[in-house]
Amino acid sequence: MHDCESRRPADAVRRTEMGGSTVSITFAGHTLETHSYNTVVVGTGAAGFNAADALHNLGQHDVAIVTEGLNMGTSRNTGSDKQTYYKLTTSGGQSDSIWDMAQSLFAGGSMHGDVSLVEAAMSAQGFYNLVRIGVPFPHNKYGEYVGYKTDHDPRQRASSIGPLTSRRMVEQLQKQTEAKGIPILDGLQVIAILTDPDKERALGLLALNKRKQGDPEHCYVLISCTNIVYATGGPAGLYNRSVYPPSQNGATGIALEAGALGQNLTESQFGLASLKFRWNLSGTYQQVLPRYVSTDADGQDPREFLQDWFADPGAMLDAVFLKGYQWPFDPRKTMQYGSSLVDILVYHETMMKDRRVFLDFRANPTWQGQELDFAWLGEESHGYLANSKALFGTPIERLQHMNQPAIDLYRDNGIDLTKEPLEIAVCAQHNNGGLLGNSWWESNLKHFFPVGEVNGSHGVYRPGGSALNSGQVGSARAAQFIAARYTEEPMETAALLEAAGEQVRAKLNMGQQFLARASSGGSGPQPLRRSDTSGDGHDMVTWEVGELRRRIADTMDQFGGCIRSADGIDDAIKDLWSLLAQLSVKMKLAGSAELGRAFQNYDRLVAAITYLAAIRDYVQQGGGSRGSYLVAQHDGELPLDSLPEAFRHRLDDGTMKTSVQQIRFSQHGCEVEWVPVRPIPQEDQWFEEVWQAYREDRVIR
Ligand SMILES: Cc1cc2nc3c(=O)[nH]c(=O)nc-3n(C[C@H](O)[C@H](O)[C@H](O)COP(=O)(O)OP(=O)(O)OC[C@H]3O[C@@H](n4cnc5c(N)ncnc54)[C@H](O)[C@@H]3O)c2cc1C
Repeated sequence: MHDCESRRPADAVRRTEMGGSTVSITFAGHTLETHSYNTVVVGTGAAGFNAADALHNLGQHDVAIVTEGLNMGTSRNTGSDKQTYYKLTTSGGQSDSIWDMAQSLFAGGSMHGDVSLVEAAMSAQGFYNLVRIGVPFPHNKYGEYVGYKTDHDPRQRASSIGPLTSRRMVEQLQKQTEAKGIPILDGLQVIAILTDPDKERALGLLALNKRKQGDPEHCYVLISCTNIVYATGGPAGLYNRSVYPPSQNGATGIALEAGALGQNLTESQFGLASLKFRWNLSGTYQQVLPRYVSTDADGQDPREFLQDWFADPGAMLDAVFLKGYQWPFDPRKTMQYGSSLVDILVYHETMMKDRRVFLDFRANPTWQGQELDFAWLGEESHGYLANSKALFGTPIERLQHMNQPAIDLYRDNGIDLTKEPLEIAVCAQHNNGGLLGNSWWESNLKHFFPVGEVNGSHGVYRPGGSALNSGQVGSARAAQFIAARYTEEPMETAALLEAAGEQVRAKLNMGQQFLARASSGGSGPQPLRRSDTSGDGHDMVTWEVGELRRRIADTMDQFGGCIRSADGIDDAIKDLWSLLAQLSVKMKLAGSAELGRAFQNYDRLVAAITYLAAIRDYVQQGGGSRGSYLVAQHDGELPLDSLPEAFRHRLDDGTMKTSVQQIRFSQHGCEVEWVPVRPIPQEDQWFEEVWQAYREDRVIR
């Protein structure tokens, strides 16, 4: 049996009064605070809050929310020019239907039909729930919630409340959960998903209490729960060049470690974004035609590099203009001076020539020494600027005229576009793939429901704004299933440790090993330094925590970014495996305050290995360029003859979009399987039949 004994804690975690019970136990030399709930929701983004709220509405009140930081995550801390929410058409006479919307989602490729149908069927419900709780989506005087057309959208299904749609969603959803008294265990970083020994069913969670990191024997929390709704967001920490907010880390790696399958991990989205303050450079930022300048690493030798590549100034300026609403990098738009050629050229400067790229709004672009002439512009860009009465002045003057809030946003974040150029790169923004879920958002790991961005429900292309729709639908759907089917009490702690004690012990040991190499007394990260610290005569190179995460992210930028190839990826994966194997001896913490970041590095390594294994497999299968990435192929074409061979590619011929790539991580390697896309179900819609099935409780299955 386990070395486990129970006693009441002196300092019970706050807010556990709603149905949860708290005791402390000793296990493997640690005092573990324990909790138990029917369902624990991990994450306080738009998806997590909605799951908790929906569960409560459906009568399951034994719920708690666990988060590493209440105010962290993408939903609360990001936005864009016009942050979009995609939904079923809710205005006007234009025809739309659940079936039509499901087809739009499905048409993106590599997306299962039943999931597409659910995302469409529950779209209006999710949207009107947000309206009801106070998210101010605009409507006209007849109550129609009008929409606009977003990318990959054949209708006008998109809505927005401005740049910060997801932040307002989170704020309003949080109020709902607070009004219901749903406890939030804040500052708990989940470090393990506990399962049965066969990794078939989730049983609970192990978390690090970040407030107690300085007290290694009392800093862990063990939670027994019947269900986990996993709303930990996208794997933001995987890339250095990233437009995810810095407060979002992601926790996909520990779910893969627990046996949850990943799917479509290849399908990340990339686009141009600013680095100092992370923000997508879409919309007016491009439509005002800023000057693109590159410099050397020290900011010297400024050059307007775009003009070296375009045939004439009109083609160059039109491509920049189109970036405004063709924001994500798209390999279909790289030839014939398409807008994604701009991403390629920025990538070429930054990733291949080690230069830095800036958007300068203070001066107009030039062409061979000549100042901008609006007559150079094509019909579309000229017409747009003419209609906006913006055929004048400098980019910053046009921006002031067309969209002053776009300037204010940067000023509020310490960047004055009237005085300084804006450093940019091609950045990771979103992962269409993620963890596998069925049409109730349940993973292959039973009782584990990945919802929101961590769930990889989307395929290759998705309509802009469908991520937020999917988050609301998936979280509500998981709640429905749990409230109907998984209502049983969680395991007793002793039984949990009987089943998953080895997993707990392994993580506690990992923590101890991390701390064994921590500098004493330090409480924060130290400057970047690589050191020989073995002290035993061996050449033992160690990495500080921050250095190691930059190294993982450098590898992802290079091999998992928007330009991919078979060259070097094997070695990159091997290198990550070797880092993982030696992590606890090679990572040097600056102090115990870095324990959480050290566990995150473990998570990132597992995720990076799995993501790169997925990419390698796709390339080996002969997969071409698609979605938001280019795959270098010798038998392809170059967007411009003068570009390096790394950009020679051919578009995917569409054959691979009829299947979904699934991947399983294990300590022995990653296993990949391609499964055929499930079609959109066409079931009997006869009311009496459905009603009977519903009355007989045959629906939620
Ligand atoms: C710049 C940008 C613009 C975007 N624009 C759009 C758009 O216009 N339309 C659209 O549909 N989508 C857009 N997206 C995507 C969309 O914003 C996200 O997919 C969505 O907000 C994710 O919500 P979420 O609830 O799944 O996760 P998040 O909001 O990221 O929340 C994750 C939560 O999990 C917590 N967490 C993570 N790991 C742990 C752990 N180990 N332990 C405990 N807690 C943990 C985090 O602290 C956080 O609270 C955009 C994304 C970016 C970056």
